[in-house]
Amino acid sequence: MLPNMLNQPYWWDAAGLPDARIALSPATLSEKVDTLIVGAGYSGLSAALTLARAGREVTVIDSEMIGHGCSSRNGGQIGPSFHKLGLAGLTSAFGAAKATEILRESMVSLTYLKTLIKDESIDCDLQPDVGRFKGVNHVKQYDETARNNADLAKAVGFQFEMVSKAQQSEYIGSDFYHGGAHYPKDGSLQPAKYVLGLARKAVEAGAKIYAPARATGVRRDGDRFTVRIAGRKLSARQVLIATNGYSGPELPFFHRRIMPLRSAIIATEQLPTELVNSAFPTGGCIVDSSRLVPYYRPSPDGTRVIFGGRAFDLSDRPKKYAPDLHRLMVRTFPQLKDVAVSHAWSGTVAYSFDHAPHLGVHDGLHYVMGYCGSGVGRATYFGHKAALQMLGQAAGKTALDGLKFPTRPLYSGTPWFLPVVLRWHNFSDRMGR
Ligand SMILES: Cc1cc2nc3c(=O)[nH]c(=O)nc-3n(C[C@H](O)[C@H](O)[C@H](O)COP(=O)(O)OP(=O)(O)OC[C@H]3O[C@@H](n4cnc5c(N)ncnc54)[C@H](O)[C@@H]3O)c2cc1C
Repeated sequence: MLPNMLNQPYWWDAAGLPDARIALSPATLSEKVDTLIVGAGYSGLSAALTLARAGREVTVIDSEMIGHGCSSRNGGQIGPSFHKLGLAGLTSAFGAAKATEILRESMVSLTYLKTLIKDESIDCDLQPDVGRFKGVNHVKQYDETARNNADLAKAVGFQFEMVSKAQQSEYIGSDFYHGGAHYPKDGSLQPAKYVLGLARKAVEAGAKIYAPARATGVRRDGDRFTVRIAGRKLSARQVLIATNGYSGPELPFFHRRIMPLRSAIIATEQLPTELVNSAFPTGGCIVDSSRLVPYYRPSPDGTRVIFGGRAFDLSDRPKKYAPDLHRLMVRTFPQLKDVAVSHAWSGTVAYSFDHAPHLGVHDGLHYVMGYCGSGVGRATYFGHKAALQMLGQAAGKTALDGLKFPTRPLYSGTPWFLPVVLRWHNFSDRMGR
């Protein structure tokens, strides 16, 4: 670790966060608004853009700053983010037709993201088809990965190629894996630049964003909502909750349905490009097949390694997870053993109990959240869909409509059991189970 290691996302440096100066002061918030969006991440901002372009008067608030949650902290890896249950699990839960519909919509979400960034000329270092290699941790997972990918190819035309151990040096400068799979249509972007770009587009379209402004309570009042913000009351005709893994106890329905799971990332100090290229020969992203899913990539300028994985603690403890991630990085890339870490940060991803994102309406409140750690494309896409639903447009229909948003008895919003579960997964991964 560098002695002056920063506990903030590496992405913020190039994006100019936290001083982006796009948000307005909450002191200037009106008392009566038409459409209020709570949460200024990809979900909320994508919805704001769609609503503002449709002529709505849109107000967005964030308790901290634009993109403070996952949207300026993530790994910037993009792909279809298939449902965690896979084709077989989805088919047994919902039947073959619904399973295919859900998976197909994941493919659509990736295309939607790439098209939006291109059409809007959002400057976010998008590499739309740089590809992603999934490294297989244990020999026996190779055939299983091949079967799952073949199912997806058959069901929804997903593109992949299996890569043997002998061929894997084309995609990764390491012999750690037992081969893997390559996904040529996956890509990467700079997450903080993307969230700010999206915010600027929403503002250009007429939306107003206020931060820091925390909603500390939302109550239905006849055909409107009263929202408490820093001791003041605001009346809104329609409200969208887009708070994802940051949904607090002031929003109890959502707090009880989301498990905030910590994901952490380190960025290395600046390195010679030859060293980074030796690890990432194609410049693409890499993800590991283990349950704790290490994910890594080069920085957009090709001078650093950005290496992420699950953190075991509920709180942000960079002194603990930075050395853990460094160890994992060196295990995979022994050539990086003397490399120091310049940035370490974390965020809370939103796990739902059925491993799926959710959008819908509860007691008149619209909501969209629950991407289970894989949501750059899906948050953008489902935020847009939630907006279309608020507009009452048939185009807002999605494959997720009507799915129950489950919770568990006695779960009150603090996943005290997660550190134990994660350690068990870690042990199982090491045992090759
Ligand atoms: C470390 C990390 C790595 C990741 N890597 C990837 C990846 O490589 N690829 C991928 O696809 N996905 C990844 N993800 C997930 C992805 O970033 C998220 O799914 C996505 O950003 C969700 O966007 P969102 O707008 O729904 O939520 P968020 O971006 O989390 O936004 C929610 C916002 O709500 C605000 N908020 C909460 N409560 C209130 C309140 N009461 N009042 C006002 N505002 C409130 C928060 O401050 C926050 O800004 C990663 C996530 C993390 C944390």
